Amino acid sequence: SGARVRRAQNRRLPQYLERGVDVKFSDVAGLGKIRLELEEIVKFFTHAETYRRRGVKIPGGILLCGPPGVGKTLLAKAVAGEAGVNFFSISASQFVEIYVGVGASRVRALYQEAKENAPSVVFIDELDAVGRERGLIKGSGGQERDATLNQLLVCLDGFEGRGEVITIASTNRPDILDPALVRPGRFDRKIYIPKPGLIGRVEILKVHARKKPMAEDVDYMAVASITDGMVGAELANIIEVAAINMLRDGRTEITTDDLLQAAQMEERGMLDRKDRSLETWRQVAINEAAMAVVAVNFPDLRNIEFVTISPRAGRELGYVRFKMDHIKFKEGMLSQQSLLDHITVQLAPRAADELWYGEEKLSTIWAETADNARSAARTFVLGGLSDKHYGLSNFWVTDKINDIDLEALRVLHECYGRAKELLQRNRTLMDAVVNQLIEKKSLTKQEFFQLVELHGSINPMPPSI
Ligand code: ADP
Repeated sequence: SGARVRRAQNRRLPQYLERGVDVKFSDVAGLGKIRLELEEIVKFFTHAETYRRRGVKIPGGILLCGPPGVGKTLLAKAVAGEAGVNFFSISASQFVEIYVGVGASRVRALYQEAKENAPSVVFIDELDAVGRERGLIKGSGGQERDATLNQLLVCLDGFEGRGEVITIASTNRPDILDPALVRPGRFDRKIYIPKPGLIGRVEILKVHARKKPMAEDVDYMAVASITDGMVGAELANIIEVAAINMLRDGRTEITTDDLLQAAQMEERGMLDRKDRSLETWRQVAINEAAMAVVAVNFPDLRNIEFVTISPRAGRELGYVRFKMDHIKFKEGMLSQQSLLDHITVQLAPRAADELWYGEEKLSTIWAETADNARSAARTFVLGGLSDKHYGLSNFWVTDKINDIDLEALRVLHECYGRAKELLQRNRTLMDAVVNQLIEKKSLTKQEFFQLVELHGSINPMPPSI
């Protein structure tokens, strides 16, 4: 009787139930094809009976894999919301308790509630906290975790294929999960959710903008293009911060500027959490600033979209985004002068390193761009663009190869001199760009060109080769 009363109370007050979850797929943006897979999971609830009759296997568990903030939790809620079922959630780090048995009993309680309130989605956040391969953790902590994991396995097996309770778990490390967890009938379905690309970011920004007073002409593309590497959680935050800025200034609409500013703040926050020394920031800033400052001197290369020193998009350093005609460039349709200008820009980091740190203290930060310059210089010579003509037909004659290299070297030398000269002439501009980069981590097109206007000494030199 005591037990029955307790159970009745439990039924009235489920601990792990999230009330008022009203998320729909339309609240999750930038999913692309992943959405289809999730729609199928919804059907496991809505069409459970049909599926069972036809012998379609209904999974017990689905694993959402991907970095933090890409929307895994949001998606799990959207599945519950679309299917119109209850949503139970727990973070696996809550399972990991010091006292043996606590984790296991929480898992039991969670599934008990989910079953009593079925159909339901059980969401387990950070599954790897409890699902790490067994035997990896020694001592009593490991023992406790094993008990919890075993309990989870038992619960998963209890619902397999019935379409009443479906477990969705999230992890950033599917590779370290205990093999028992990913066996057929358990988490046998993996869905990867990557960081959003450019268009994905535009869509996510727009979803969050729906509930805000946005100016009509907001340029979401501009915001998306300076937020490379950011996830949904960060993009959502940008909109919130922009709204606060608007209110603070007593305005009634959120503008593109509000968003760009908020994006920079978000980025700074993100980067402050990373550990680069000030000296490294400075070095990278000089590297990127040099390319941008040299490039504004050249008609084909001055269309700079933004300059950044934040490590992202898989790059160690920052980068300068040029809006140039890449097709023209790849097809070798650049004019002789543009190709030389390109080589000069690629040598700017090396020249800046010499000017700002001195020959004795050279780093290797410019290695990649110097390689670009080298190969472009060979293209230049082989393409017959230099004074001396080396047609491709001569390519295999060994003594000519030496000549070609010498000629390429001459081109590199000339361009290097030019890069140095342009940098020296624009020291004030360089210092301004470097300082702003260190402070803000990235400069928008407008910010960069404002500095050029204030401090630049730009007048394109006549072709020198
Ligand atoms: P994860 O579970 O992957 O760590 P969350 O689902 O907790 O990420 O995301 C946190 C918040 O970020 C969400 O509540 C939502 O506001 C926003 N968000 C993340 N991804 C998206 C997305 N694809 N579309 C819209 N909003 C998103």
